[in-house]
Amino acid sequence: MAYTVTLVPGDGTGPELTEATRRVLEATGVELTWDVQQAGVDVMESAGTPLPPGTLDSIKRNGVALKGPITTPIGTGFRSVNVALRHELGLYACVRPCKSYAGVRSRYEGVDIVVVRENTEDLYAGIEFESGTDDARAVIEFLNARQPKQISATSGISIKPLSPEGSERIVRYAFDYARANGRRRVSCITKANIMKHTDGLFLAVFREVAKDYPEIEAWETLVDALCMGLVQRPEEFDVLVLPNLYGDIISDLTAGLVGGLGVAPGANIGTGAAVFEATHGSAPKYKGQNKVNPTAMILSGKLMLEHLGERDAARRLEDAVAAVIAEGKSVTYDLKPTRDDPTAVGTSEYADAIIARLG
Ligand code: NAD
Repeated sequence: MAYTVTLVPGDGTGPELTEATRRVLEATGVELTWDVQQAGVDVMESAGTPLPPGTLDSIKRNGVALKGPITTPIGTGFRSVNVALRHELGLYACVRPCKSYAGVRSRYEGVDIVVVRENTEDLYAGIEFESGTDDARAVIEFLNARQPKQISATSGISIKPLSPEGSERIVRYAFDYARANGRRRVSCITKANIMKHTDGLFLAVFREVAKDYPEIEAWETLVDALCMGLVQRPEEFDVLVLPNLYGDIISDLTAGLVGGLGVAPGANIGTGAAVFEATHGSAPKYKGQNKVNPTAMILSGKLMLEHLGERDAARRLEDAVAAVIAEGKSVTYDLKPTRDDPTAVGTSEYADAIIARLG
């Protein structure tokens, strides 16, 4: 079956990373037609916006996008393209698998964790009141009149909304993911003992939804205990489902357990579209140097193949990546024992080595 996928090269090192990924994905034999669309600082001037409407329309039309990293311009008045995409496409689930590959330097072995982060609610909903403003004072007065704990009138306020429907949607996604990918356990990560009406609600929803998945073990872990557990025995954890803020922090921690940003892929899933992209940013200082590591982007492509139902091709691709990394010969500078190793290859040559394995 042929698939039409929106390809957004992005900016900074994005174009070279997505080009390497495109070639590797095509080498799996899956028939892919690329609808190339622009976004980021490079099109800002010509299009008058870093996210041209045609790019958004293409992703909506095709339902699937492979996206390179995009720089968030500072001080231009434009909002982050990544935030805009999440909002416009209703990308409510951020999925970040963190897996150990032999040959990637890390303190741990045998880690295979999938972080499923809620992407739309929580303290990240962006509902905030600046200290000293009339709005902040009005909110504080309202709250002080309704409960005994008095908030200082000079406080800044950030609101943490969690809804039952938003919680159910992400928890169900985590269990469905576990079921589809042969995972054994889903852990619900909260601070439900303290934040009873938000995290407590998330946990209550988790307990209900878990009943529909009797073959999957449902664990409940407090986020502080999780942090200790992850650094002591990360191999015990499987799928984690978390509200937005904990998910943001924990997914960086788990990326660190398996060797860092260069090998951390990601998927943003919505009801009508899915966008696949590396966890890292545009690394602009390396732009055009054919230097940076495309593994995270290529593994995001592997997630895309799984999403499309091409599981065999996804497995072959992951095996080829793992073999090239384990051999340690044709790998980028960051996967070598020292960063100035003269035997390191470029982005494109690393992709060639993976393609040779797929052949
Ligand atoms: P970054 O991830 O671009 O870089 C952080 C560090 O990691 C740098 O030292 C960089 O050299 C290194 N690095 C990153 N990717 C690498 C790779 N593939 N191989 C080897 N080394 C790699 O983070 P930053 O510098 O904070 O952000 C740069 C820009 O990217 C910012 O404008 C930021 O907003 C944006 N950003 C975009 C996304 C996205 O598009 N989803 C995500 C994060 C950051």
